[in-house]
Amino acid sequence: MHGFEKELTIGLQSVQLAARVCQTVQKQITREKLDKKDKSPVTIADFASQAAICRALSQAFPSDVIVGEEDSSELKSPENAGFLDQIVAELAKVGVHGSPDEVCGWIDRGAGNGDHRFWTLDPIDGTKGFLRGEQYAVSLALIIEGRIEVAVLGCPNLPIVAGDATSPGSLFFAVRGAGAYVLPIDAASLDVAAAKRVTVSGASVWSDARVCESVESGHSSHSRSEMIAQSLGIVLPPVRLDSQAKYAVVARGEADLYLRLPTKQDYREKIWDHAGGVLVVEEAGGKVTDVAGKPLDFTHGRELAVNRGVVVSNGRMHDALVAAVIAAGVS
Ligand code: AMP
Ligand code: MG
Repeated sequence: MHGFEKELTIGLQSVQLAARVCQTVQKQITREKLDKKDKSPVTIADFASQAAICRALSQAFPSDVIVGEEDSSELKSPENAGFLDQIVAELAKVGVHGSPDEVCGWIDRGAGNGDHRFWTLDPIDGTKGFLRGEQYAVSLALIIEGRIEVAVLGCPNLPIVAGDATSPGSLFFAVRGAGAYVLPIDAASLDVAAAKRVTVSGASVWSDARVCESVESGHSSHSRSEMIAQSLGIVLPPVRLDSQAKYAVVARGEADLYLRLPTKQDYREKIWDHAGGVLVVEEAGGKVTDVAGKPLDFTHGRELAVNRGVVVSNGRMHDALVAAVIAAGVS
């Protein structure tokens, strides 16, 4: 018993439901839409995912603050009425029935800015991966007094059996002090007692180390990470994947390191891009800091205002990795 049984149950149920909406919408993406750079599928799934999760959290924990990535202001403009109708329709397909106004109300429950107890939500992290049919994540975390206590990280396209594309996607979760686990994303019963424990790798030499990083070089500097890898004697090529699925692959030992190296002086990381993944990695035995080696500070509203970038590892290699990042002049 860890005292967060209800939070975990609602978190798992709502992320699983949101992942179902995302999967249904992702199946509707056609080559033609992709060629036209039509972003409407990800927009619809993103809002529907936030609506479904905020609705569930509001029903179960009416006084909890939610810090979600999206808000409904653009949906309310008349030219987007068609979009809103599609969001309502996608939600209805998974049994979530609400009027357009109700759906906007659920989405706007996510307008919080932090509190002594709050949830943070990225309804679709890795929107570019979602559109390409690759990795994306639904990330939800409960933060109390600045500490992440519960995390649920749905990765619908990350096979639960690494490398076996025929296996279902993965639903990771962690509660502080109680370990990190994974269930199949389509599990009929979300029985936490049946979940599989995940742990980081035991790698301790650079020649074995596998680094992962963003697909988008605008989100993390590929050239800097290459320099750092060379300086350490890392020989394996980096694995590039979108979203917090990077935290998941480090947590389960499929990769050993994740680097997120700032590309812009004024960019501050958003809390929903990290909170879920961070606790999953920490509870799997890994370590997460910023590029200066400082812990991530979730007490500054919607952004990690006093941190820059992110360094994630299996723990053993952390201090030497941060030292190499600093030596490369990354800040
Ligand atoms: P990833 O899939 O790891 O590349 O990260 C996707 C996330 O990157 C999105 O959810 C954005 O919030 C975030 N993002 C947008 N611009 C930047 C940037 N300049 N640096 C770092 N992250 C960014
Ligand atoms: Mg995101």
